[in-house]
Amino acid sequence: MKRVGAHVSTSGGVENAPLNARAIGAKAFALFTKNQRQWKAKPYTTDNIEKFKKNCEDAEFLPEHILPHDSYLINLGHPEKEGLEKSRDSFLDEMQRCEKLGLVMLNFHPGSHLKKISEDACLKRIAESINIALDKTRGVSAVIENTAGQGTNMGFRFEHLASIIENVEDKKRVGVCLDTCHTFTAGYDLRTRKTFKATMDEFDRVVGFKYLSAMHLNDSKPDLGARVDRHQSIGKGKLGVEPFRFIMNDKRFDEIPMVLETIDETIWPEEIKLLYSLEK
Ligand SMILES: [Zn+2]
Ligand SMILES: [Zn+2]
Repeated sequence: MKRVGAHVSTSGGVENAPLNARAIGAKAFALFTKNQRQWKAKPYTTDNIEKFKKNCEDAEFLPEHILPHDSYLINLGHPEKEGLEKSRDSFLDEMQRCEKLGLVMLNFHPGSHLKKISEDACLKRIAESINIALDKTRGVSAVIENTAGQGTNMGFRFEHLASIIENVEDKKRVGVCLDTCHTFTAGYDLRTRKTFKATMDEFDRVVGFKYLSAMHLNDSKPDLGARVDRHQSIGKGKLGVEPFRFIMNDKRFDEIPMVLETIDETIWPEEIKLLYSLEK
């Protein structure tokens, strides 16, 4: 079955995320493991952890349907020593927070070269950062999100994702999250049956569907290839409803978390219903 949900709030404690997800009719959810705009966070208490696990169990969310997202400050491909070390430390902390919650994935944006190193050097750094974190943790996979390619962000070509994976030592603990908005604004069309198939065939050829661990379901404000990251509610952007119909009727997207990061959270329950209504 399809696991559609949204990126829900952890306000008041991480244990509230599964409750927030259940309240909107989600069958999967995403959350930040800490404030996404700060480096430091209080460690989870035993109480947080126990309640989180209990609330997930009660609402029947399995760890494989939960997709934590790391902080926006982290840059695993940072060109400078200080920024790189800070990012690697923080990423490891986030991985360990996932471990504590009994979760199995951590979703992150690959990183940016900031015009100070080559794209290739940046991709190698990202892979090395992943290796360091995987080496120090157990059971949590690093899930690389494709990007819109805004600024100096890497990860907007499928080849970038493939290159990172190639240099990750433990291939069982690396995966990919495709964001529909990012895919489209990076230049891969999804709007017709033909272009959707061509894009997914290319993804399969370059990266491989076996690495697909999650989806972010977002419509897009910018047009194809704009290299700008601006999400829109489903059906209200440049993508329209059709790409989501293709996804909802394609078995390759079964049982992975598919998470809305759309701009109007008040309509998430309707968006989730809309997505399920597209299934034949
Ligand atoms: Zn995303
Ligand atoms: Zn985005």
